[in-house]
Amino acid sequence: MSDSKSSPNRWLARHIVSLPRSGIRDFFELVNAMDEVISLGIGEPDFVTPWKIREAAIYAIRRGHTTYTSNLGLLALRRAVCRYVEEHFGPAYDPERECIITVGVSEALDLILRAVLNPGDEVLYHEPCYVSYAPTITMTHAVAKPVVTCRENDFALDPRAVEEAITPKTRVLLLNFPNNPTGAGLTAAGKAAIAEVAIRHDLLVISDEIYEELSYGERSPSIASLPGMRERTVLLNGFSKAFAMTGFRIAYGCGPQDLIEAMMKIHQYSMLCASSIAQAAAIEALQNGAAEREEMRLEYHQRRNVIVKRLNDMGLDCFMPRGAFYVFPCIRGTGLSSLQFANRLLREQKVAVVPGTAFGACGEGFVRCAYATGMADIEVAMERIRDFIGALR
Ligand code: PLP
Repeated sequence: MSDSKSSPNRWLARHIVSLPRSGIRDFFELVNAMDEVISLGIGEPDFVTPWKIREAAIYAIRRGHTTYTSNLGLLALRRAVCRYVEEHFGPAYDPERECIITVGVSEALDLILRAVLNPGDEVLYHEPCYVSYAPTITMTHAVAKPVVTCRENDFALDPRAVEEAITPKTRVLLLNFPNNPTGAGLTAAGKAAIAEVAIRHDLLVISDEIYEELSYGERSPSIASLPGMRERTVLLNGFSKAFAMTGFRIAYGCGPQDLIEAMMKIHQYSMLCASSIAQAAAIEALQNGAAEREEMRLEYHQRRNVIVKRLNDMGLDCFMPRGAFYVFPCIRGTGLSSLQFANRLLREQKVAVVPGTAFGACGEGFVRCAYATGMADIEVAMERIRDFIGALR
Protein backbone atom coordinates (compact mmCIF):
# COMPACT_ATOMS: atom_id res chain seq x y z
CA MET A 1 0.00 0.00 0.00
CA SER A 2 1.28 3.46 -0.89
CA ASP A 3 2.12 5.70 2.07
CA SER A 4 2.58 8.74 -0.15
CA LYS A 5 1.19 11.94 1.36
CA SER A 6 -1.07 12.38 -1.66
CA SER A 7 -2.44 8.81 -1.66
CA PRO A 8 -6.10 8.32 -0.65
CA ASN A 9 -4.79 5.61 1.70
CA ARG A 10 -3.87 8.33 4.18
CA TRP A 11 -7.56 8.63 5.02
CA LEU A 12 -8.06 4.97 5.84
CA ALA A 13 -8.67 3.96 9.45
CA ARG A 14 -5.80 1.98 11.03
CA HIS A 15 -7.97 -1.01 11.94
CA ILE A 16 -9.22 -1.23 8.34
CA VAL A 17 -5.71 -1.01 6.87
CA SER A 18 -4.63 -3.96 9.00
CA LEU A 19 -7.74 -6.02 8.15
CA PRO A 20 -6.72 -8.93 5.89
CA ARG A 21 -8.50 -9.50 2.59
CA SER A 22 -10.62 -12.66 2.51
CA GLY A 23 -8.47 -15.61 1.42
CA ILE A 24 -11.53 -17.08 -0.29
CA ARG A 25 -11.98 -14.02 -2.50
CA ASP A 26 -8.41 -14.12 -3.82
CA PHE A 27 -8.68 -17.82 -4.49
CA PHE A 28 -11.94 -17.49 -6.41
CA GLU A 29 -10.58 -14.74 -8.59
CA LEU A 30 -8.13 -17.38 -9.80
CA VAL A 31 -10.93 -19.98 -10.20
CA ASN A 32 -13.11 -17.59 -12.21
CA ALA A 33 -10.29 -16.98 -14.66
CA MET A 34 -10.12 -20.72 -15.53
CA ASP A 35 -12.36 -22.88 -17.76
CA GLU A 36 -13.98 -26.24 -16.93
CA VAL A 37 -13.35 -26.05 -13.21
CA ILE A 38 -15.62 -28.08 -10.91
CA SER A 39 -16.09 -25.88 -7.91
CA LEU A 40 -16.56 -27.36 -4.46
CA GLY A 41 -15.61 -23.94 -3.22
CA ILE A 42 -18.62 -21.71 -2.92
CA GLY A 43 -20.77 -21.83 0.22
CA GLU A 44 -23.94 -21.12 -1.69
CA PRO A 45 -26.84 -23.45 -2.60
CA ASP A 46 -26.74 -24.67 -6.21
CA PHE A 47 -30.57 -24.76 -6.18
CA VAL A 48 -32.52 -21.88 -7.66
CA THR A 49 -34.84 -20.25 -5.13
CA PRO A 50 -38.13 -22.25 -5.21
CA TRP A 51 -40.47 -20.77 -7.82
CA LYS A 52 -43.31 -19.93 -5.42
CA ILE A 53 -40.88 -17.78 -3.41
CA ARG A 54 -39.65 -15.97 -6.51
CA GLU A 55 -43.26 -15.52 -7.57
CA ALA A 56 -44.10 -13.91 -4.23
CA ALA A 57 -41.32 -11.38 -4.86
CA ILE A 58 -42.64 -10.68 -8.36
CA TYR A 59 -46.17 -10.33 -7.01
CA ALA A 60 -44.96 -7.84 -4.37
CA ILE A 61 -43.47 -5.72 -7.13
CA ARG A 62 -46.65 -5.97 -9.24
CA ARG A 63 -48.75 -4.79 -6.31
CA GLY A 64 -46.37 -1.89 -5.74
CA HIS A 65 -45.11 -3.15 -2.39
CA THR A 66 -41.84 -1.41 -3.06
CA THR A 67 -41.61 1.07 -0.21
CA TYR A 68 -39.81 1.22 3.13
CA THR A 69 -41.31 -1.06 5.77
CA SER A 70 -41.24 -0.72 9.55
CA ASN A 71 -37.61 -0.57 10.70
CA LEU A 72 -38.05 -3.88 12.48
CA GLY A 73 -39.51 -5.43 9.31
CA LEU A 74 -43.08 -6.27 8.27
CA LEU A 75 -45.08 -7.41 11.28
CA ALA A 76 -46.52 -10.26 9.18
CA LEU A 77 -42.98 -11.52 8.56
CA ARG A 78 -41.94 -11.11 12.20
CA ARG A 79 -45.03 -13.09 13.23
CA ALA A 80 -44.19 -15.82 10.73
CA VAL A 81 -40.55 -15.86 11.90
CA CYS A 82 -41.49 -16.16 15.58
CA ARG A 83 -43.94 -18.99 14.84
CA TYR A 84 -41.27 -20.77 12.77
CA VAL A 85 -38.53 -20.27 15.38
CA GLU A 86 -40.75 -21.62 18.14
CA GLU A 87 -41.72 -24.63 16.04
CA HIS A 88 -38.22 -25.47 14.80
CA PHE A 89 -35.69 -24.13 17.31
CA GLY A 90 -37.48 -23.97 20.66
CA PRO A 91 -37.71 -20.51 22.16
CA ALA A 92 -40.85 -18.35 21.90
CA TYR A 93 -40.35 -14.67 21.03
CA ASP A 94 -42.70 -11.70 20.87
CA PRO A 95 -42.86 -10.56 17.22
CA GLU A 96 -43.58 -6.96 18.25
CA ARG A 97 -40.53 -6.52 20.47
CA GLU A 98 -38.13 -9.44 20.28
CA CYS A 99 -37.53 -9.92 16.55
CA ILE A 100 -35.81 -7.83 13.87
CA ILE A 101 -35.61 -8.49 10.12
CA THR A 102 -32.15 -7.78 8.69
CA VAL A 103 -30.18 -7.75 5.46
CA GLY A 104 -28.72 -11.23 5.86
CA VAL A 105 -27.31 -12.82 8.98
CA SER A 106 -24.26 -10.75 8.02
CA GLU A 107 -26.07 -7.55 9.00
CA ALA A 108 -27.71 -9.10 12.05
CA LEU A 109 -24.29 -10.16 13.37
CA ASP A 110 -22.82 -6.72 12.72
CA LEU A 111 -25.78 -5.06 14.51
CA ILE A 112 -25.62 -7.13 17.67
CA LEU A 113 -21.83 -6.84 17.91
CA ARG A 114 -21.97 -3.06 17.45
CA ALA A 115 -24.86 -2.83 19.92
CA VAL A 116 -23.05 -4.52 22.80
CA LEU A 117 -19.29 -4.04 22.42
CA ASN A 118 -17.08 -1.26 23.71
CA PRO A 119 -13.53 -0.81 22.37
CA GLY A 120 -11.20 -3.43 23.84
CA ASP A 121 -13.96 -5.87 24.88
CA GLU A 122 -13.19 -9.45 23.97
CA VAL A 123 -15.37 -11.77 21.90
CA LEU A 124 -14.74 -15.50 21.98
CA TYR A 125 -15.54 -17.46 18.84
CA HIS A 126 -14.44 -20.87 17.64
CA GLU A 127 -12.06 -21.57 14.77
CA PRO A 128 -12.13 -22.86 12.07
CA CYS A 129 -15.07 -20.55 11.40
CA TYR A 130 -16.93 -18.44 8.87
CA VAL A 131 -14.47 -15.98 7.33
CA SER A 132 -16.41 -12.87 8.43
CA TYR A 133 -16.37 -13.41 12.18
CA ALA A 134 -12.96 -12.02 13.16
CA PRO A 135 -13.14 -9.02 10.76
CA THR A 136 -16.70 -8.14 11.87
CA ILE A 137 -15.57 -8.19 15.51
CA THR A 138 -12.45 -6.15 14.70
CA MET A 139 -14.56 -3.53 12.91
CA THR A 140 -16.39 -2.85 16.18
CA HIS A 141 -12.99 -2.04 17.81
CA ALA A 142 -13.36 -5.13 19.98
CA VAL A 143 -10.84 -7.97 20.22
CA ALA A 144 -11.52 -11.27 18.41
CA LYS A 145 -10.27 -14.25 20.44
CA PRO A 146 -10.46 -17.65 18.75
CA VAL A 147 -10.97 -20.90 20.63
CA VAL A 148 -9.62 -23.80 18.60
CA THR A 149 -11.77 -26.81 17.75
CA CYS A 150 -10.13 -29.95 16.45
CA ARG A 151 -10.70 -33.12 14.43
CA GLU A 152 -10.10 -35.34 17.47
CA ASN A 153 -13.22 -33.81 19.01
CA ASP A 154 -15.19 -33.78 15.71
CA PHE A 155 -14.74 -29.99 15.69
CA ALA A 156 -17.24 -29.60 18.53
CA LEU A 157 -16.56 -26.77 20.98
CA ASP A 158 -14.96 -27.90 24.24
CA PRO A 159 -16.51 -25.93 27.15
CA ARG A 160 -13.22 -26.21 29.08
CA ALA A 161 -11.38 -24.50 26.22
CA VAL A 162 -13.98 -21.72 26.30
CA GLU A 163 -13.57 -21.30 30.03
CA GLU A 164 -9.77 -21.17 29.77
CA ALA A 165 -9.99 -18.36 27.17
CA ILE A 166 -12.24 -16.15 29.32
CA THR A 167 -10.67 -13.00 30.82
CA PRO A 168 -12.26 -10.10 32.72
CA LYS A 169 -12.71 -8.39 29.32
CA THR A 170 -14.71 -11.23 27.73
CA ARG A 171 -18.29 -10.13 27.04
CA VAL A 172 -19.57 -12.29 24.21
CA LEU A 173 -19.42 -15.88 23.00
CA LEU A 174 -20.20 -16.32 19.31
CA LEU A 175 -21.35 -19.79 18.26
CA ASN A 176 -22.04 -21.34 14.87
CA PHE A 177 -23.38 -24.89 14.81
CA PRO A 178 -23.92 -26.59 12.40
CA ASN A 179 -20.62 -25.08 11.44
CA ASN A 180 -19.09 -23.51 8.40
CA PRO A 181 -16.51 -24.83 7.38
CA THR A 182 -16.43 -28.15 9.27
CA GLY A 183 -20.08 -29.26 9.31
CA ALA A 184 -19.69 -29.93 13.04
CA GLY A 185 -22.69 -29.84 15.33
CA LEU A 186 -23.28 -29.63 19.06
CA THR A 187 -25.14 -32.30 20.99
CA ALA A 188 -27.76 -31.36 23.56
CA ALA A 189 -25.21 -32.15 26.29
CA GLY A 190 -22.57 -30.03 24.52
CA LYS A 191 -24.97 -27.08 24.37
CA ALA A 192 -25.86 -27.48 28.04
CA ALA A 193 -22.18 -27.50 29.07
CA ILE A 194 -21.44 -24.35 27.04
CA ALA A 195 -24.59 -22.67 28.42
CA GLU A 196 -23.37 -23.40 31.91
CA VAL A 197 -20.04 -21.63 31.21
CA ALA A 198 -21.85 -18.66 29.63
CA ILE A 199 -24.11 -18.28 32.67
CA ARG A 200 -21.27 -18.67 35.17
CA HIS A 201 -19.23 -15.94 33.44
CA ASP A 202 -22.20 -13.73 32.52
CA LEU A 203 -21.51 -13.85 28.77
CA LEU A 204 -23.89 -12.83 26.02
CA VAL A 205 -24.23 -15.68 23.52
CA ILE A 206 -24.74 -14.92 19.84
CA SER A 207 -25.91 -18.12 18.19
CA ASP A 208 -25.60 -18.10 14.39
CA GLU A 209 -27.94 -20.95 13.41
CA ILE A 210 -28.00 -20.28 9.68
CA TYR A 211 -27.41 -23.97 8.88
CA GLU A 212 -29.78 -25.37 11.52
CA GLU A 213 -32.40 -26.53 9.00
CA LEU A 214 -29.64 -28.35 7.12
CA SER A 215 -29.08 -30.85 9.94
CA TYR A 216 -28.79 -34.55 9.12
CA GLY A 217 -28.87 -36.38 12.41
CA GLU A 218 -30.52 -35.93 15.73
CA ARG A 219 -31.39 -32.30 16.34
CA SER A 220 -31.56 -30.55 19.68
CA PRO A 221 -33.30 -27.26 20.51
CA SER A 222 -31.37 -23.99 20.26
CA ILE A 223 -29.04 -23.07 23.12
CA ALA A 224 -31.40 -20.10 23.57
CA SER A 225 -34.08 -22.45 24.89
CA LEU A 226 -31.98 -23.86 27.75
CA PRO A 227 -32.73 -22.67 31.30
CA GLY A 228 -31.19 -19.26 31.98
CA MET A 229 -30.19 -18.75 28.32
CA ARG A 230 -33.11 -16.97 26.67
CA GLU A 231 -32.25 -13.73 28.46
CA ARG A 232 -28.58 -13.89 27.41
CA THR A 233 -28.84 -15.19 23.83
CA VAL A 234 -29.46 -13.57 20.48
CA LEU A 235 -30.46 -16.19 17.93
CA LEU A 236 -29.60 -15.40 14.30
CA ASN A 237 -30.93 -17.21 11.27
CA GLY A 238 -31.90 -16.40 7.72
CA PHE A 239 -33.16 -17.57 4.38
CA SER A 240 -29.90 -17.77 2.40
CA LYS A 241 -29.06 -21.41 2.95
CA ALA A 242 -32.21 -23.37 3.91
CA PHE A 243 -34.39 -21.68 1.28
CA ALA A 244 -31.64 -21.02 -1.33
CA MET A 245 -32.23 -17.26 -1.11
CA THR A 246 -28.69 -15.82 -0.87
CA GLY A 247 -29.39 -12.97 -3.31
CA PHE A 248 -32.52 -11.85 -1.46
CA ARG A 249 -30.33 -10.78 1.49
CA ILE A 250 -32.89 -11.50 4.18
CA ALA A 251 -32.54 -12.84 7.73
CA TYR A 252 -33.60 -12.21 11.32
CA GLY A 253 -32.45 -11.89 14.88
CA CYS A 254 -34.48 -12.87 17.93
CA GLY A 255 -33.61 -12.04 21.51
CA PRO A 256 -34.36 -9.98 24.60
CA GLN A 257 -36.28 -6.76 23.90
CA ASP A 258 -33.50 -4.37 25.01
CA LEU A 259 -30.96 -6.01 22.70
CA ILE A 260 -33.34 -6.07 19.72
CA GLU A 261 -34.18 -2.41 20.42
CA ALA A 262 -30.45 -1.52 20.38
CA MET A 263 -29.94 -3.48 17.14
CA MET A 264 -32.94 -1.65 15.67
CA LYS A 265 -31.43 1.77 16.50
CA ILE A 266 -28.29 0.99 14.48
CA HIS A 267 -30.30 -0.67 11.71
CA GLN A 268 -32.70 2.28 11.40
CA TYR A 269 -29.85 4.75 10.90
CA SER A 270 -27.64 2.59 8.72
CA MET A 271 -30.09 0.45 6.70
CA LEU A 272 -33.64 1.74 7.42
CA CYS A 273 -35.15 -1.66 6.69
CA ALA A 274 -34.61 -4.84 4.73
CA SER A 275 -35.95 -4.92 1.15
CA SER A 276 -39.77 -4.97 1.10
CA ILE A 277 -39.63 -7.39 -1.83
CA ALA A 278 -37.32 -9.81 -0.05
CA GLN A 279 -39.59 -9.61 3.01
CA ALA A 280 -42.61 -10.63 0.91
CA ALA A 281 -40.61 -13.57 -0.47
CA ALA A 282 -39.54 -14.57 3.05
CA ILE A 283 -43.17 -14.70 4.24
CA GLU A 284 -43.94 -17.10 1.39
CA ALA A 285 -40.87 -19.21 2.25
CA LEU A 286 -42.00 -19.63 5.86
CA GLN A 287 -45.68 -20.17 5.08
CA ASN A 288 -45.44 -22.45 2.05
CA GLY A 289 -41.78 -23.42 1.48
CA ALA A 290 -41.43 -26.40 3.82
CA ALA A 291 -41.65 -29.09 1.13
CA GLU A 292 -39.01 -27.48 -1.10
CA ARG A 293 -36.76 -26.82 1.91
CA GLU A 294 -36.98 -30.48 2.91
CA GLU A 295 -36.34 -31.66 -0.69
CA MET A 296 -33.12 -29.64 -0.79
CA ARG A 297 -32.07 -30.93 2.64
CA LEU A 298 -32.55 -34.54 1.56
CA GLU A 299 -30.47 -33.95 -1.57
CA TYR A 300 -27.64 -32.38 0.50
CA HIS A 301 -27.88 -35.33 2.89
CA GLN A 302 -27.37 -37.81 0.05
CA ARG A 303 -24.47 -35.82 -1.35
CA ARG A 304 -22.87 -35.67 2.09
CA ASN A 305 -22.93 -39.46 2.38
CA VAL A 306 -21.36 -39.90 -1.06
CA ILE A 307 -18.62 -37.31 -0.64
CA VAL A 308 -17.60 -38.47 2.86
CA LYS A 309 -17.36 -42.09 1.69
CA ARG A 310 -15.34 -41.21 -1.41
CA LEU A 311 -12.89 -39.02 0.50
CA ASN A 312 -12.31 -41.63 3.22
CA ASP A 313 -11.97 -44.39 0.59
CA MET A 314 -9.16 -42.46 -1.11
CA GLY A 315 -7.38 -42.02 2.23
CA LEU A 316 -8.36 -38.47 3.15
CA ASP A 317 -9.66 -38.69 6.70
CA CYS A 318 -13.03 -36.96 6.79
CA PHE A 319 -15.45 -36.95 9.69
CA MET A 320 -19.18 -37.22 9.08
CA PRO A 321 -20.62 -33.69 9.31
CA ARG A 322 -23.85 -33.23 11.24
CA GLY A 323 -25.09 -30.37 9.12
CA ALA A 324 -24.54 -27.50 6.64
CA PHE A 325 -23.16 -28.42 3.19
CA TYR A 326 -19.44 -28.70 3.86
CA VAL A 327 -16.93 -31.45 4.50
CA PHE A 328 -13.52 -30.72 5.96
CA PRO A 329 -11.14 -33.56 5.03
CA CYS A 330 -7.62 -33.78 6.44
CA ILE A 331 -4.96 -33.57 3.71
CA ARG A 332 -1.86 -33.84 5.96
CA GLY A 333 -1.04 -37.30 4.60
CA THR A 334 -0.30 -35.76 1.19
CA GLY A 335 2.63 -33.79 2.61
CA LEU A 336 1.19 -30.60 1.13
CA SER A 337 0.02 -27.54 3.01
CA SER A 338 -3.67 -26.59 2.64
CA LEU A 339 -2.80 -23.81 0.23
CA GLN A 340 -0.45 -25.98 -1.84
CA PHE A 341 -3.09 -28.71 -2.00
CA ALA A 342 -5.81 -26.31 -3.14
CA ASN A 343 -3.58 -24.52 -5.66
CA ARG A 344 -2.18 -27.70 -7.20
CA LEU A 345 -5.58 -29.46 -7.28
CA LEU A 346 -6.97 -26.47 -9.13
CA ARG A 347 -4.14 -26.28 -11.67
CA GLU A 348 -3.61 -30.02 -12.17
CA GLN A 349 -7.18 -31.36 -11.96
CA LYS A 350 -9.40 -28.28 -12.22
CA VAL A 351 -11.21 -28.87 -8.95
CA ALA A 352 -11.65 -25.90 -6.62
CA VAL A 353 -11.65 -26.45 -2.86
CA VAL A 354 -10.87 -23.86 -0.19
CA PRO A 355 -7.67 -24.09 1.90
CA GLY A 356 -8.57 -24.72 5.56
CA THR A 357 -6.40 -21.77 6.61
CA ALA A 358 -8.97 -19.39 5.06
CA PHE A 359 -11.06 -20.23 8.18
CA GLY A 360 -8.32 -19.68 10.76
CA ALA A 361 -4.73 -20.81 11.30
CA CYS A 362 -5.90 -24.09 12.89
CA GLY A 363 -7.44 -25.02 9.52
CA GLU A 364 -3.93 -25.92 8.30
CA GLY A 365 -3.88 -29.54 7.17
CA PHE A 366 -7.52 -29.40 5.97
CA VAL A 367 -9.51 -28.17 2.97
CA ARG A 368 -13.19 -27.28 2.74
CA CYS A 369 -15.29 -28.94 0.06
CA ALA A 370 -18.83 -27.65 -0.33
CA TYR A 371 -21.39 -30.14 -1.59
CA ALA A 372 -23.68 -27.39 -2.82
CA THR A 373 -22.88 -28.81 -6.25
CA GLY A 374 -24.85 -31.41 -8.26
CA MET A 375 -24.16 -35.11 -7.66
CA ALA A 376 -22.73 -35.68 -11.16
CA ASP A 377 -20.11 -32.97 -10.65
CA ILE A 378 -19.34 -34.29 -7.17
CA GLU A 379 -18.65 -37.75 -8.64
CA VAL A 380 -16.28 -36.31 -11.28
CA ALA A 381 -14.59 -34.07 -8.68
CA MET A 382 -14.00 -37.10 -6.45
CA GLU A 383 -12.37 -39.01 -9.34
CA ARG A 384 -10.14 -36.05 -10.08
CA ILE A 385 -9.10 -35.70 -6.42
CA ARG A 386 -8.34 -39.42 -6.29
CA ASP A 387 -6.17 -39.09 -9.43
CA PHE A 388 -4.44 -36.04 -7.95
CA ILE A 389 -3.57 -37.87 -4.74
CA GLY A 390 -2.53 -40.98 -6.69
CA ALA A 391 -0.06 -38.91 -8.71
CA LEU A 392 1.51 -37.55 -5.49
CA ARG A 393 2.36 -41.04 -4.20
N1 PLP B 1 -23.08 -17.16 8.96
C1 PLP B 1 -22.43 -18.22 8.43
C2 PLP B 1 -21.90 -19.27 9.35
C3 PLP B 1 -22.27 -18.34 7.05
O1 PLP B 1 -21.64 -19.42 6.55
C4 PLP B 1 -22.77 -17.32 6.20
C5 PLP B 1 -22.58 -17.39 4.73
O2 PLP B 1 -21.88 -18.22 4.20
C6 PLP B 1 -23.42 -16.23 6.80
C7 PLP B 1 -23.56 -16.18 8.17
C8 PLP B 1 -23.96 -15.09 5.95
O3 PLP B 1 -25.28 -15.31 5.69
P1 PLP B 1 -26.25 -14.25 4.99
O4 PLP B 1 -26.32 -14.61 3.53
O5 PLP B 1 -27.58 -14.44 5.69
O6 PLP B 1 -25.67 -12.90 5.22
